[in-house]
Amino acid sequence: MDRQFNLAIVGLGGMGNWHRETIAEIDNISVCGAFDIKEERQQFARDKGLYAYGSFEEVLADPKVDIVLCATPNDQHHDIVVKALRAGKNVVCEKPVAMSSVELADMIAVAKETGKVFVVHQNRRWDEDFLTVKKIFEEKMLGETFRIESRVHGSRGIPGDWRQEKEHGGGMVLDWGVHLLDQILLMVPGKLKKVYASMSHVTNEIVDDGFTTELAFENGIRVLVEVGTSNFINLPRWYVLGRDGTAVVEWGCKGKMVRITDWSKNDAVPIRTAAGLTKTMAPRTEDTIHEDPLQPVNGDIHDFYKNVMAVIEGKAEQIVKPEQVMRVFKLMEAIFESAEKQQVIDFE
Ligand code: NAD
Repeated sequence: MDRQFNLAIVGLGGMGNWHRETIAEIDNISVCGAFDIKEERQQFARDKGLYAYGSFEEVLADPKVDIVLCATPNDQHHDIVVKALRAGKNVVCEKPVAMSSVELADMIAVAKETGKVFVVHQNRRWDEDFLTVKKIFEEKMLGETFRIESRVHGSRGIPGDWRQEKEHGGGMVLDWGVHLLDQILLMVPGKLKKVYASMSHVTNEIVDDGFTTELAFENGIRVLVEVGTSNFINLPRWYVLGRDGTAVVEWGCKGKMVRITDWSKNDAVPIRTAAGLTKTMAPRTEDTIHEDPLQPVNGDIHDFYKNVMAVIEGKAEQIVKPEQVMRVFKLMEAIFESAEKQQVIDFE
C-alpha cells in the first residue's frame, strides 16, 4: 500500500491512548493529533509528541485527517461520529458504538449518505481464547456443540468513572456485554429465537454491575453469557459442551479438552457419600476418555486497522459490519427488556 493515512484521536483517555500505541506499530498509518476536553489529556498528547487540536471543529477542518477515531465516553459517540462523517472523514468508533439502536441507525444512515467508512472497534473478535473456541465449534472438535458458556468475572465492582453513570452509557451490558455478545453472534449460525436475562446490582442501583443471559438459538444451541464484577472466585472464561467432549478455555488460551474415546465401555464406579450412592455422576474411567491440549489460534489486532485502510481504498470488505453491530445492539436491548420484565423475549 502506497498511501499514508492520518488519524486524529478524539478522546485521549485510556483507550484513546491504547489506539495511539497500537497504531504506532502499523505501517501506512499514523496519529496526526488528538483532541480531548480535559487540559491534562491535551498536555499528555503534547508530551507524547502529538499535535493537540484546540477544538473538535479544528479536527474536522484539518484536510490531512483521513480517519477520526472516537474514543470518548459512550454518550458522546453519536454526535462526534455523525459530525465527522458529515465533515467528510472516515470514522472508527469505540464500542459500545452508541446509547441505543436508534442512535446507531442514524449513524449508519449518515455513513451511507456520505459514502464514508464507519467501523466500530469490536476488537475482541481478535482475542485468542475466542478464536480458539470458534475453531473448536466450527471443526466440531467436541462433536456437535450443544451449549457454550462465556463469562468474564472480576471482583473490583464497576469502575468508579463514567461507567457508573447511566447518562454516559455506564453499566456492564454496554461495557463488556457488547464484546461477549458480538463474539457469540459471530460464531453461532442461524436465528436467535429467545433471550432471558437478569442484572446484578451488588455495588450500586443505578447501572448494572453484571448480568447473566441465556440465549436459545433456532438450531438448538444454548448459550450463557455472564459478566460479573463481584466474583472473588472466577468460573472459566469459556465452558463448551459437545456431544463427544467438553472444553475449558481461559484467557491466554490455557485450558483443555476432554473427549470420549470409547462409548462402549460404560462401567462406572459409583460415588458413595454418607447419604447415598450415584453411578450417573461417577467420573469416567481413564480408558474411555482422553485429555487433549487446546490448539490455540493466534489473532493479530493490527489486522483491524489494516482492514479499515483497505476498506477506505476499496480493496477489502469491512470485517466489523454495521449490520452485525446493530444485531448486537438489538440483543443488548432485549437483555435489558427481559431483565426488567423478568420475561423471555422473542428475538428473531
Ligand atoms: P476514559 O474516561 O479513560 O477516556 C475518555 C476520554 O474522553 C477522557 O479523557 C475525556 O476527557 C474525553 N472526552 C469526553 N468527552 C469528550 C468530548 N466530547 N470530546 C473529546 N474528548 C472527550 O474512558 P476509556 O476507558 O478510554 O473509554 C473510552 C471509550 O472506549 C468508551 O466508549 C469505552 O467503552 C471504550 N473502550 C473500549 C475498549 C475496548 O477494548 N474496545 C476498552 C476500554 C474502553
